Amino acid sequence: MPELPEVESVRAQLAPLLEGRRIERVAITDPRLTRPLAPDEVAVRLEGELIRAVDRRGKYLIVRFESGRALLIHLRMTGSLRHARAGGLPDDPYERAVVTLDDGSDVAYRDVRRFGTWLLLEPPEVGAYVDARVGLEPLGASFRPRDLAAGLAKRRAPVKAALLDQRTVAGVGNIYADEALWRARVHPLRPAASLTAEEVRAVHRGVRRALELGIARQGSTLTDYRLPDGSSGRMQTEFNVYGRAGEPCPRCGTPIEKIRVAGRGTWYCPRCQRPPQAASRSSSRPSRSSRQSSV
Ligand SMILES: [Zn+2]
Repeated sequence: MPELPEVESVRAQLAPLLEGRRIERVAITDPRLTRPLAPDEVAVRLEGELIRAVDRRGKYLIVRFESGRALLIHLRMTGSLRHARAGGLPDDPYERAVVTLDDGSDVAYRDVRRFGTWLLLEPPEVGAYVDARVGLEPLGASFRPRDLAAGLAKRRAPVKAALLDQRTVAGVGNIYADEALWRARVHPLRPAASLTAEEVRAVHRGVRRALELGIARQGSTLTDYRLPDGSSGRMQTEFNVYGRAGEPCPRCGTPIEKIRVAGRGTWYCPRCQRPPQAASRSSSRPSRSSRQSSV
């Protein structure tokens, strides 16, 4: 599932190709993409729009038009965008929409599992819609450790669950939450509110560094994620813990373990990331399930 580094990599590649271009034709072939609006209704409203900017907030790609409208694209599980010169799009059974620009080039939207969404918002709606769903940008200067501390305070949920909440930190998902907590040496099951100020600073730093490396590698391609030019990300070969159950921790050599947190597969180092001391009884359960899942 694309997270901040993947969506940011898509944005960075699309922006120079799209900005300043006018949309000539739009064909949306999957009614799920634009629900509750009909695909043709959205297509007609997009045709003629001049693209002013391609932005990102959290995992949302925001295509802003001169008219003040904006198209919010969420890739969800398996969505991706492909840009090609006129006639250059590959045949694709999972293609759900094609936007033709005034230079003849096409942007195709592909989505195997069809959870992605296209939402066209009118000018007054855009900021409020996004801000209600997405918290501070973790790579922005305005995101400070004390902002993260405020987002974790009073929450009894595991710190990993709190990080996955998009209102705590925008754009962090399953992969980069695990990588950030490993960098911070904080166990994913620690209650969010139990972190010390020093640990919060470490998580703040860990989130930033994990995301920055992800962006530098143009995201991670596990199955479906591709860049608009069709190439893959390179981050998947550099995970420290994610998906590495049984392999040695890069820091201490202890085998990485896998548990479930907030319903998601979660990888951590049992030595670097000490379990919640107050929950010593529950810490035996994760290690049992990790043995089962690593078989
Ligand atoms: Zn370790």
